[in-house]
Amino acid sequence: MADYLRPTSLDEALQALARPWTVLAGGTDFYPARVGPAIDENVLDIGGIAALRGITAGPDGWRLGATTTWSELLEAELPPLFGGLKQAAREIGGRQIQNAATIAGNLCNASPAADGVPPLLALDAVVELAGRAGTRHLPLASFITGNRRTVLAPGELLVAIHVPRPAGEARSAFLKLGARRYLVISIAMAAATLEIEGGRVVAARIAVGACSAVAQRLPALEAALLGATVDSLATSVEVSQLEPLSPIDDVRGSAAYRREAAVTLLRRLLAGLAS
Ligand SMILES: Cc1cc2nc3c(=O)[nH]c(=O)nc-3n(C[C@H](O)[C@H](O)[C@H](O)COP(=O)(O)OP(=O)(O)OC[C@H]3O[C@@H](n4cnc5c(N)ncnc54)[C@H](O)[C@@H]3O)c2cc1C
Repeated sequence: MADYLRPTSLDEALQALARPWTVLAGGTDFYPARVGPAIDENVLDIGGIAALRGITAGPDGWRLGATTTWSELLEAELPPLFGGLKQAAREIGGRQIQNAATIAGNLCNASPAADGVPPLLALDAVVELAGRAGTRHLPLASFITGNRRTVLAPGELLVAIHVPRPAGEARSAFLKLGARRYLVISIAMAAATLEIEGGRVVAARIAVGACSAVAQRLPALEAALLGATVDSLATSVEVSQLEPLSPIDDVRGSAAYRREAAVTLLRRLLAGLAS
């Protein structure tokens, strides 16, 4: 390793980023990608910056600090709106991984199979990026641009994820399909957030992951759900609504299997939210 720095303030971290460092959070994606030769890059460990950790609620919504771990999210008292993100957290690796791995690390690693992305898309999450020149906010949908690609500029850190407070009561859910129940990379996963008033859907946000380079919202399904009664949710799902997806054939499943799995997951997800 060249240099190792563990700052305790965001300012110190951003000043250090005037020269190239590789950011380290929980290390659960960082270390498995570096098995073998000794690490020879400068490592900036952001785990000691208290301002990047924890969940706070305000009138407009919630702020999830970048280094909040999946376990901390699971232990936080949050409304049913976060049911889907908590379900994803429960299925990210095992308990040891959840104790170390951070929410922002999952987003910045930008794997097509990152389980945190679909539920955060379904929560309309916004990411907060900070650099020496200032701070910018972007919808999560514009942050991840491809397989392992984000718009993070050199010298920038993802400092927080913001979840807006919905107008009405909302609930969300997440379902993942893998080759076994736990400790598995997703073949497909789906997340939904619904706002329901008087037995009808007044807002719907649906996202599917591992079926395209970047998890995708499904606008046609979201539109079909608007005004739907709670007992008709699952039957609103049609294959044509998967058009934004572009699944691939790989060792975990064929493109055709992924499409079929996505439809089944969406129907089960919506049936579960209806009950
Ligand atoms: C055994 C095992 C099982 C796993 N199972 C799953 C699973 O089921 N589902 C799943 O989605 N993932 C899984 N993962 C992957 C991983 O645990 C998650 O993606 C995790 O959330 C990554 O967070 P981290 O803090 O460990 O990131 P790190 O490894 O520290 O960092 C990941 C990447 O993001 C960058 N980065 C991290 N934080 C920031 C920041 N704030 N600003 C800018 N850049 C940053 C780093 O430079 C690095 O490139 C698994 C990993 C292992 C080892």
